[in-house]
Amino acid sequence: MTLEDFEKSLAEDQDRRRERSDKDRRHRDRDGDRDRSKDRSSRHHHRSSHNHRRHSSRSRERDNRRDRESRHRDNDDGHRHKRSRHSTDHGDDHENSHKRRHRHERDEEHSAPKTIIQEEPSALKRDSWMEAPSALDIEYVHRPDPNRVEESTKPKMLQADFELKIHDKELNSHLRDLKDGKALDDVEEEPAQHEVDYTFGDSGSQWRMTKLKGVYREAQESGKSVEEVAVERFGDLRSFDDAREEETELDRRKTYGQSYVGKEKPSGELFQERKLKNVVHRDPHEHTRDPAEELRAEGQGKVMGTEAPSSTTKLLDQTALNRLKAQLMKAKLKGAANAAELEEQYNSAAAAAISNRSESDVVVLGVQQNRMLAGSRNEVKPVDTKRGRERGLMEDNEDMTIEDMVREERKTRGQPGGEGARLAERIAKDGKFENDLEYMDDQASKLAKRVHRSEIDIKSATINDFRKMNRILDNCQLCHHEDTNTPPVAPVVSLATRVYLTLPTEPEISEGGASIVPIQHRTNLLECDDDEWEEIRNFMKSLTRMYHDQGRDVIFYENAAQPQRKRHASMEVVPLPYSLGETSPAFFKEAILSAESEWSQHRKLIDTLAKSKQGLGRNAFRRTLVKEMPYFHVWFELDGGLGHIVEDEHRWPRGDLFAREVIGGMLDVAPDVIKRQGRWNRGGDPRVDGFKKRWRKFDWTRAGYDQIDIDACSARNPPLLVSNVPTAVDDATADVNMFLILGALRNFNAGMHSLREGKWRGRPALGHDPQGKTLGILGMGGIGRNLKKKAEAFGMKVIYHNRRQLSEELSGGAQYVTFDELLSTSDVLSLNLPLNNNTRHIIGKPEFAKMKDGVVVVNTARGAVMDEAALVDALDSGKVFSAGLDVFEEEPKIHPGLIGNQNVLLVPHMGTWTIETLIAMEEWAMENVKLAITTGKLKSPVPEQVDLQ
Ligand SMILES: [Zn+2]
Repeated sequence: MTLEDFEKSLAEDQDRRRERSDKDRRHRDRDGDRDRSKDRSSRHHHRSSHNHRRHSSRSRERDNRRDRESRHRDNDDGHRHKRSRHSTDHGDDHENSHKRRHRHERDEEHSAPKTIIQEEPSALKRDSWMEAPSALDIEYVHRPDPNRVEESTKPKMLQADFELKIHDKELNSHLRDLKDGKALDDVEEEPAQHEVDYTFGDSGSQWRMTKLKGVYREAQESGKSVEEVAVERFGDLRSFDDAREEETELDRRKTYGQSYVGKEKPSGELFQERKLKNVVHRDPHEHTRDPAEELRAEGQGKVMGTEAPSSTTKLLDQTALNRLKAQLMKAKLKGAANAAELEEQYNSAAAAAISNRSESDVVVLGVQQNRMLAGSRNEVKPVDTKRGRERGLMEDNEDMTIEDMVREERKTRGQPGGEGARLAERIAKDGKFENDLEYMDDQASKLAKRVHRSEIDIKSATINDFRKMNRILDNCQLCHHEDTNTPPVAPVVSLATRVYLTLPTEPEISEGGASIVPIQHRTNLLECDDDEWEEIRNFMKSLTRMYHDQGRDVIFYENAAQPQRKRHASMEVVPLPYSLGETSPAFFKEAILSAESEWSQHRKLIDTLAKSKQGLGRNAFRRTLVKEMPYFHVWFELDGGLGHIVEDEHRWPRGDLFAREVIGGMLDVAPDVIKRQGRWNRGGDPRVDGFKKRWRKFDWTRAGYDQIDIDACSARNPPLLVSNVPTAVDDATADVNMFLILGALRNFNAGMHSLREGKWRGRPALGHDPQGKTLGILGMGGIGRNLKKKAEAFGMKVIYHNRRQLSEELSGGAQYVTFDELLSTSDVLSLNLPLNNNTRHIIGKPEFAKMKDGVVVVNTARGAVMDEAALVDALDSGKVFSAGLDVFEEEPKIHPGLIGNQNVLLVPHMGTWTIETLIAMEEWAMENVKLAITTGKLKSPVPEQVDLQ
C-alpha cells in the first residue's frame, strides 16, 4: 500500500472509528464501574481518576480490607494470606527494608491456635543502652534468636500466611475481640538505630530526597507542622529522620567532594535527638509504654506521641509471646510490682499479633487473574505472533507458581541500591498514577508495601501493570492499532519500515515542524533498536535537508522526563531561523541549568555533541544516556546535542512544557501558545498536504529500486516480483569510476575549466599520482570488484569494506578492513554500495572527520549514500582534496557548493551511458521478462525478493 492509499483509507475509516471509539469508551466505563463494585479484593488500584486523593484512597483501602476479611473468615482452605498491620500502615520504603522474617512453627500449626507470628527483624541493631540486662530480669524486648535465621530464610510464604490466622476454634475469644477494634493503641518505642537495606546516596536516594523536600514544602504551604506532614508522608518520624540524616550526609559529600563518605546508613542520631526533646511533650494518654524501659532509661528516650500508633505496634512471634507470658506468670507468682504492667504488655502484644490478621488478604486466584498477568517474572508467556510481540500480549504460564514469583520478587529485594529503583518501578506500575508530588508520596508508601504483603499483591501489581499498559496502548494516538486495523490518530506523512513521520500537535511552537515516531510503542528513543535508529537518522537527515532548502535551521528534541506515563516515544523536529539555530545550544544550556533543584546528583548537562565529536559519533546519544532514567535530550546536529537526566520529574515542567518554553522564548511565541499542548484529531489535518508536498523530494522512504516499493510488491498476493539489471553495467560504471579517480587525483577539472574560460591552465593545484595510493572501496559488489582490477593496473593498493567479508577468490586479494579503518587509511575512497535504508548517508559529517586529510572521494553509486552538504563542508575546509561524482542526491539538481568548486569533477550520471552497455542492459531486461513468462522466475531478482522465488 502506498502512503497515499494509506492516507486515503485513514480518511475513509475515520468516522466509523470515531464512533466506535466513543462506544468503546462508554463500554469500558461501565466495565470499570462493575469492576469497582464487584471485584475489589483482587486489585488495589482501579481505573485512573484524577480525584483520588489520600482520603478517598485510604477509605477504599479500608473497604478492601473489610471485604477481604470477611472472605477470609468464610474461607477455610489453604489460600490464606496475611498482611501485617505493621507493613500496611507503616510501610514506606524504609520500613519495608526491614527484612522481617516470617516464622513458622511447624509443630504448632496443627495443634495450637494458629496465632499470628511476626518476628522482629533479626538484623536489628539496638543501642547498647537498650541491650543492657534489665534490672528486673524481664525480657521485654524480643531478642533475635540467631538459630532462627536459617529457618526463616527458607521460602515459606504460604506457610507464613497460615501463621497469621486464628483458628475457628480459638478459645481465647478475647483475642478476637481485641482484633475487632478493641486493640489497644499500643505505642512503644522505636529503637533509634535500625537496619535499612539502602545506603546513602544510592540510586534510591533521589526518591527519598524528593519525599523529604515534599514534606518541607507541604509544611510550608499548608501551615502544618513539619512533623505532622512527615508522619503523613513517611508514616513515622524515624524514617523521616533517617531521610534527614541522609540529606545532611549528601550535603557533606557535596561540600567535601565525592570521596568523602561520612556514613553509609542512618545512625538514628536525629531520631534519638527527637526522642530526647520530646520527653517534655509526652502524651499523657500513652499508657502502654514499657515500664521497665522507663525505669532504666529515665530521662532518656520517651515515646513519641506523634507517631502513627498502629504503625509502631511491635509484633512478636509465638515464641516471644510465650516467653513474655512466662515472665508474666513468674512476676505474678512472685507478686512483683510490675506484674500488672507486664500483663498489659502481654495483652497488647497478643492483640497486636491478632490485629495483623484484620488486614490479611485472602484472594482466591482464578485462571481469570492468571490470564491477566504480565511481566518479566515468567508468570506468563509472551504471545509470539507479530501482533503479540508488538502489543506485548501474554498468555498464562501455568508453570510459574506463586512461590516462584515471590522468590523472584525477593531476589531483587535488598540488593544494594535497588530499593529506589524498585520504588520507581512500582509507582510506574500503578494504574492510577498521577503526576504530582502528593500522589507520589501517598502512593509510594502504599506501593512499596506490596513487597511486604502476600504474594497476591505482586500479582495484582502485575495485573495493574498489564491493565495500565493495555489502556495506554489502546488510547495511544501514535500507535497503529492492528486489532482494529486502525492507523494512528496522528497523521502519517511518511512511513518507513519501523519509523514514521507525523506532524506535531497544534498549536505548533514553530510552524512546519514534524515528529519522528517509532511504529512500535517505545517509551523512549533509547529503547529503539539499531534498525529503528537507522531510520530515525534518515528522517533527521532528510528533514534537515528539507528545512535547509526552506532556508531554515532545525533542532530535534526528545522529552522522556516522565517514564511512568509510558507515553509513545517521539522525536520532535523544530525548524528555526538560521540565526536562532546557532544560539539554541546556549538557550537550552541555560534553561537546563536553571531547571532543577540544587541537590542534583547527576551532572546537569550531558554534552552528547562533544562526545560525538570525541569519537562516539552517531552513538553518542545512545551510549551516554540510560533508558532507565527520565531524561530530556536536544539534538543540535545529527549526532548530538545536550542531554539532561531529570532528577526530580515533579519539578520538571509538565508535559512538553520545558522545550516549548525554551523554544517559545527564543522565537518570542505568545505564552498562551506555549502553554497549550494539544492532541491530534483523527483525519482532516489541513497541514498534511502542504507538508507532504514540501517533503516529497526529500522523502527517503520512497527510495529503492528506481522508486519501486519492494515491500509493497512483496506483500501483494501473489507477490509482484521485481528484478534489476545488476552486472551488465559493471564495466561501464567502473570505467567512469576510474576516470573520476584519475581526474580528481590529478585535478583535471580546474585545468579544463580554465581552458574553456580562455585562461589556458589557470592555477590548478598540483595533482597526485595514483601509483602507490590506497584505494578504499566501500561496497565490494560487481562494480567494486571490477574497479579493483582496473585500479590495480594503475598501481593502486586496494582495500575494501563490505557487509560481509568476501572469499579470497572473490576479493582477488584485496584486504578486508573495518568501516572505520577504511575511512582512516584510504587515500581515495570510492563508494560502490547500493542505496537502501541502511546505506543512506553512510558517509556524512562524522565519517569525513575520520578520513585522512586531503582524501579524494569518488561516488558512482547513488547520490544519497553520501551527505552532499557534508561533502561540501569537507571540501571547503580542505579535509577533502577533491571529489569525483557521477551521481547526486537530488539529480538533476546539484549542490551549489559543488558546482562552484573547481576541484570537483562532476559527470551528469553517465556511468552506463554507452551504446554497448545500454544494449547489454536491454538484453538483460528482455531475458528477465522471458524467464518470468516461461518459468515464473526472474534472472536477477532484487535481493529483498531472493527468497520469494
Ligand atoms: Zn503507542
